[in-house]
Amino acid sequence: MKAHYQTQGFLIILSGPSGVGKGTVCTALRKRMPELAYSVSATTRAPREGEKDGVNYFFKTVEEFKQMIENEELIEWAQYVDNYYGTPRHFVEETLASGKDVILEIDVQGAHQVKERFPHAIFIFLLPPTIEELKNRIIGRGSETEITLAHRLNAATDEFKQINQYDYVVINDEVEKACERVEAIIKAEHCRVDRLVMTE
Ligand code: 5GP
Repeated sequence: MKAHYQTQGFLIILSGPSGVGKGTVCTALRKRMPELAYSVSATTRAPREGEKDGVNYFFKTVEEFKQMIENEELIEWAQYVDNYYGTPRHFVEETLASGKDVILEIDVQGAHQVKERFPHAIFIFLLPPTIEELKNRIIGRGSETEITLAHRLNAATDEFKQINQYDYVVINDEVEKACERVEAIIKAEHCRVDRLVMTE
């Protein structure tokens, strides 16, 4: 009988205010760590230019989204500004069961729900180098009106207050450096004694 030591896959939660660069960091991270599975969220928000259904999000109507909630198809969901966002359950559960890590790019409300349901998940908060820079990044995206920009900045102020619920903080000053730090966190977490399993 041969025993193999390995560590289990786990959930990685990447949160942080709108505009901090979660999407950019995730995309770069997936290049560095192709073994990492990325969960595509469902949302009722309209697609931005260049966004594709099933790649960036699963774009849903409000009725479809509410049906997903009803059917318990989401492991967490939240209303952010004027839209719903949620994490499809099936992909996450199947991928974790296969032993892979899954990364979720979600807001603070969603992270809170995941913490209750997945105690072994790790929680990383991405911070901008300054608030001014955050504002510039959202404006630079060109997708917000003055009103939705103000809502997103207000939401950011609330989100910063929740930072103590996270295990790690990474400042996104430069994408590659931020990625390196997130990668280091994931690799170190895999070396934790309490994640060790033995298979035959
Ligand atoms: P955006 O409209 O800029 O793509 O996303 C708005 C916010 O919703 C961001 O903070 C983003 O991380 C968050 N978000 C994206 N997907 C999910 C999700 O599945 N669940 C939750 N709770 N938040 C999400």
